[in-house]
Amino acid sequence: MKIVPAKTMGYCGGVSRALDLAEEAIAYAIEHALPVYSLGPLIHNPQVIASLAKRGMSVIEDPEGHEPGVLVVRAHGISDTLHNRFIDAGFLLFDATCPVVRHNLSNIAHWAKTHPIIIIGHQGHPEVLAMQGVLIDGKQIESFLITKREEVSALSNQPYAVFVQTTFDQVLLEEIRTSLKEFDRIVYVNEICPSSINRRRAALDLAGQCDAVLVIGGRQSANTKALAELVSNEGKKAYHIEDSTEIPAEAFSHDTLGILAGASTPSSVIEDVVRTLQKE
Ligand code: SF4
Repeated sequence: MKIVPAKTMGYCGGVSRALDLAEEAIAYAIEHALPVYSLGPLIHNPQVIASLAKRGMSVIEDPEGHEPGVLVVRAHGISDTLHNRFIDAGFLLFDATCPVVRHNLSNIAHWAKTHPIIIIGHQGHPEVLAMQGVLIDGKQIESFLITKREEVSALSNQPYAVFVQTTFDQVLLEEIRTSLKEFDRIVYVNEICPSSINRRRAALDLAGQCDAVLVIGGRQSANTKALAELVSNEGKKAYHIEDSTEIPAEAFSHDTLGILAGASTPSSVIEDVVRTLQKE
């Protein structure tokens, strides 16, 4: 069996940075005898979360009911209101908001002074919650969330500023953009992150060259699920696995097997999958 690794896979810059900051936060918390938390799971990878938990990092969503300590804000960012609540409760924040996301949040605060904001993203996604939760002079911005093209018809024709969740699905985005064409005064302020676009290209590339593709990443990782779906839509078998123990027997039956991984999959997990395949 020929194994073909994708040109782009594994951690994006924002995830690597968040993990580095988590190490700093744990070291600081140990030195100052403080509890250490992450705001939601730092990344969608069970092995990494288990390893951080072993070293004392617990996952919380809210300051309520938790002893103040060190809190790592993940790459997706945090709403201004929640940020203020953690600070008021006495938490020390290590902010790993990805610089790309941070830039978008600052731009939302700027554009919202003159335009209602359209956010194209997934309902409840932490990055979307951070975008919806931008405050100006203590007041939450006015925003409209669009998750699919059918929702565009509920908008009135006025000059909107549009922001896109950095990991949003490219096909869905194009559909929504087509529907938004009937509005003549729309400004698109940002785009999907190039890191997501490169991963998508790599997935399409693999689907074109291989009989099937192993897509490695957490079961809850939206970008891993999207990559697996992309491969399936190209008519190729995609096996979504979390680690080498989940490689299905059928995967060994293909002549050419592609290896792809989501943005929150550690390289150690990818290497272990490749080693296991090579042993057979
Ligand atoms: S996908 Fe892009 S924007 Fe999102 S965390 Fe990674 S580098 Fe940052």
